[in-house]
Amino acid sequence: MYKINENYLKLPGSYLFSNIAKKVAAYTAANPDKSIIRLGIGDVTQPLAPAIIEALHSAVDEMAHAETFHGYAPDLGYEFLRSAMAENDYQALGCDISADEIFISDGAKCDSGNIQEIFGPDSKIAVCDPVYPVYVDTNVMAGRTGTYNPDTETWSDVIYMPCTEANNFAPELPKERPDIIYLCFPNNPTGAAVTTDELQKWVDYANKEGSVIIYDAAYEAYITEENIPHTIFQCEGARTCAIELRSFSKKAGFTGVRLGATVIPKDLKCGEVTLHSLWARRHGTKYNGAPYIVQKAGAAVYSEAGKVQIAEQIAYYQKNARTIFEGLKSAGYSVSGAVNSPYIWLKTPDKMTSWEFFDFLLEKANVVGTPGSGFGPSGEGYFRLTAFGTYENTIAALERIKNI
Ligand code: PLP
Repeated sequence: MYKINENYLKLPGSYLFSNIAKKVAAYTAANPDKSIIRLGIGDVTQPLAPAIIEALHSAVDEMAHAETFHGYAPDLGYEFLRSAMAENDYQALGCDISADEIFISDGAKCDSGNIQEIFGPDSKIAVCDPVYPVYVDTNVMAGRTGTYNPDTETWSDVIYMPCTEANNFAPELPKERPDIIYLCFPNNPTGAAVTTDELQKWVDYANKEGSVIIYDAAYEAYITEENIPHTIFQCEGARTCAIELRSFSKKAGFTGVRLGATVIPKDLKCGEVTLHSLWARRHGTKYNGAPYIVQKAGAAVYSEAGKVQIAEQIAYYQKNARTIFEGLKSAGYSVSGAVNSPYIWLKTPDKMTSWEFFDFLLEKANVVGTPGSGFGPSGEGYFRLTAFGTYENTIAALERIKNI
């Protein structure tokens, strides 16, 4: 009999979103007259900006003619998009990143899951707690995480870096040396951001210890404060210790269109071997490139019209985030996030667990959010709301919460 990858059997079920869906369905069935407002979703709701729609249409038309038809895309990405990203996302901020250090993909979820493949099987990973679950689960699949303890909801061979009120939701440098450090700022789920000086400490640590940082910048477009870095390459020395993941999902509403990128500087080396060459080999072998049409839409994000329209869209979500943040605060809740992020992270009142507060909010306000404990043990006692709903729903949800 053939054998399966038994590491998959070690994965605890991911019950978070299915549990939420079940609870909401049961409540709706029992209370068909109640209207539910969902502020739990991590998906955008605004349509694509006109400049992007225009680029999509025009790229589709190109595909209709032999002279302008495009077949397989270059597996590392079209030059026009790689250059647009290098110029706008990096060089405009004074960062030394060139177009050929940017690998275009269909999103940050795949890249954040696949990147671990280029590292040794016994590499030790460090993650924030709470955390975007993909980082841990993909390392479980690769057999890197040891055994799971259901009581503590932790893996024996993973270094957890708690992010709680006590450290302002910013992790402290680990006591034990990790090989791979996953960082995501602005953070999902806490909405926390770190300053350039704080991030510099991680870059210095990684360079000193011979660790690599995988930096997920999926939410950089939501940064409003001056001293928060939009990319880890704003830190000195990041070229020798960091890989960055970028996503068009929350920046430009591409959750259903699919586009992202991984940035690997050529100076990032393990001995003589550049990680750039390994990822290029991996990409070339296992990936056939994001569609031409989609990459054209991505380039429109950096057009003059695209930039203006996308800024408006992000401002819309940021207004929702501020509204939730300020509304909850005035209602007496302890809240964080929101300022540089579409996520609002609140402390559950009266020592309720995350799930108790979920039930409470669903029943008393008919509002759905996400229990913090679903993102890791240090998320217990917290709750995530998102700014991705409509403004009208956001206002209505807050009114309901205030009135409980
Ligand atoms: N990284 C983080 C931290 C996320 O929260 C998400 C989506 O929710 C992703 C990556 C996925 O991004 P993409 O849609 O580009 O795959």
